[in-house]
Amino acid sequence: MIFKKETITVAYTVEKCKSCGLERKRKFKDGDYLFTETGKCNSCNDMMLIERIFGETTDQ
Ligand SMILES: [Zn+2]
Repeated sequence: MIFKKETITVAYTVEKCKSCGLERKRKFKDGDYLFTETGKCNSCNDMMLIERIFGETTDQ
């Protein structure tokens, strides 16, 4: 008997501030591309860039 594991993949976007290095992780949304400016840093108010987009698989 074969059990098929149900998995879901959730995409995340990591934003990083180029000035102070603060990282922020949030769920990926349409229109996210690497190295585009995505908003203001909470810490120093400089622009944050999208540094990484990745998927996490979780067992359901
Ligand atoms: Zn910053």
